[in-house]
Amino acid sequence: MKNSIFTKIINREIKSEIIDETEDLIVIKDISPQAPIHFLIIPKKQFENISAMECGDEIYGAKIFLMAKKLSEKIPGEKDFKLIINNGKLAGQCVFHMHAHFLAGF
Ligand code: 5GP
Repeated sequence: MKNSIFTKIINREIKSEIIDETEDLIVIKDISPQAPIHFLIIPKKQFENISAMECGDEIYGAKIFLMAKKLSEKIPGEKDFKLIINNGKLAGQCVFHMHAHFLAGF
């Protein structure tokens, strides 16, 4: 599998503004924000999207939810947020490495 742009960011081959990082996830600022706060929560394991999840990958769902909670607590006054996952080209997915959009600051 070819390394995605997000894997290159995880490997520090491409620069990005990193907001948070754990053993399994990285959180970066979206390069083209659609809200005052627009982060991407990205599993370090590269798989295309929800449709491509394999047995064992379901843990990323929970990890992404908990990271969203952590981010909302970290940013003062931003406890309300949207979490969006585009699954597939017709749904607007452009980068085929699973990620969730964290939008806040409305
Ligand atoms: P998708 O449309 O696949 O759900 O979302 C991909 C997101 O990745 C878009 O919001 C786009 O702005 C963002 N993006 C694409 N390339 C880069 C990049 O090199 N750096 C960062 N920080 N965000 C990117």
